[in-house]
Amino acid sequence: MTEKILTRNFDRADAHTLGAYRETGGYTGWEKARTMEPAGITEEVKKANLRGLGGAGFPTGMKWSFVPKNHTGPVYLVINADEGEPGTFKDRYLLERDPHALIDGMLIAARAVRCEKAFVYIRGEYVEPYRRFAAAVKEAYEAGLLGDGLDIVVHRGAGAYICGEETGLISSLEGKKGWPKVKPPFPAIKGAFGMPTIVNNVETIAHVPHIVNRGAAWFAPGIYEESVGITLRQLIDRAGGVSGNGRLKGVVPGGSSAPILRADEIDVTMDVDGLRNAGTMAGSAGVIVMDETVSIPEALMVVARFYAHESCGQCTPCRESTGWIYKMSERILSGHGRKEDLDTILDVAKRGAGTTICAFYDGAVGPYISYIEKFRDEFEALVTDGAGTRARATPAPVAR
Ligand code: SF4
Repeated sequence: MTEKILTRNFDRADAHTLGAYRETGGYTGWEKARTMEPAGITEEVKKANLRGLGGAGFPTGMKWSFVPKNHTGPVYLVINADEGEPGTFKDRYLLERDPHALIDGMLIAARAVRCEKAFVYIRGEYVEPYRRFAAAVKEAYEAGLLGDGLDIVVHRGAGAYICGEETGLISSLEGKKGWPKVKPPFPAIKGAFGMPTIVNNVETIAHVPHIVNRGAAWFAPGIYEESVGITLRQLIDRAGGVSGNGRLKGVVPGGSSAPILRADEIDVTMDVDGLRNAGTMAGSAGVIVMDETVSIPEALMVVARFYAHESCGQCTPCRESTGWIYKMSERILSGHGRKEDLDTILDVAKRGAGTTICAFYDGAVGPYISYIEKFRDEFEALVTDGAGTRARATPAPVAR
């Protein structure tokens, strides 16, 4: 039977309180970590092969070890709780239902990287998660867990997707426009306020107390709420199967940026490498399941509208292509598409890939290309028949 780790307290009505967290072994990871050397904690997390669960999958312990050893000024830990990826709600539940798990993990991570001041950047739309987390921070101060070695600042974002990109997030935290920056320098060398900064996702850090408590070897085989060895097909079955008409058309396995898989491609394991070998990615692991009644051209238009709206506009390929592709997808859907539109979208998408400051545009390219290449007949039917689903030919304006 799969053991519940991060969600073990979710069914308790009082799971967000310090008392409930302590009753289920909370803060024992921190008690153990405070007797360990910082380098020993990092080594344990490295051995566990904990990967970043915000989407990039970068090894967490390795990231921690990038902080320059000879640095004498402040080091910051920044938790990315700006969960804006469509179809993804995992961090929200952790903040809302088990906020002390994040504080526990932050105490340990902060010791590992010698940080005395940490920030949690919470998506502006997450009102209840913010309230719950801020209340948990207050409890932790009152209990003496915080304020004696580590201070936590809770910061609310203002609603831009790109502030979930780590350098954009840091700029926003500094009070500037949330624009991503060219890397290097990476934040671990020069991040918030010019100081070495470790940016980690909520779920990633919530795993850390369990790794310290039970050891790297326990975690390394991949013990999650469901083992990452589960296939996408099994995962969908365990979640209750396909809703709607019950017949599967496609699955986006890792948030909207992950290339789509057809119904016959879902016998893949849900780990980083398994999904990569299948031509997609684990990303945020927010799974979007589409039944046969879903129109893929309409799904593409919705996704394209999102990327056109959220591009920060710094890079020409991203700023222009996301707008063009949204307009073309809307035109196809409305029955006014041109035959060449499909190849134009593919061409525009491929040309811009890999040329931009941050990974946002590469994330947009995944759905642009995969939706058309894998479901081309649906798009062609709209283009050749002019059988659009809606009469409107002019796309809605995109506000930036
Ligand atoms: Fe902004 Fe897009 Fe460039 Fe990222 S890729 S910096 S979102 S314009």
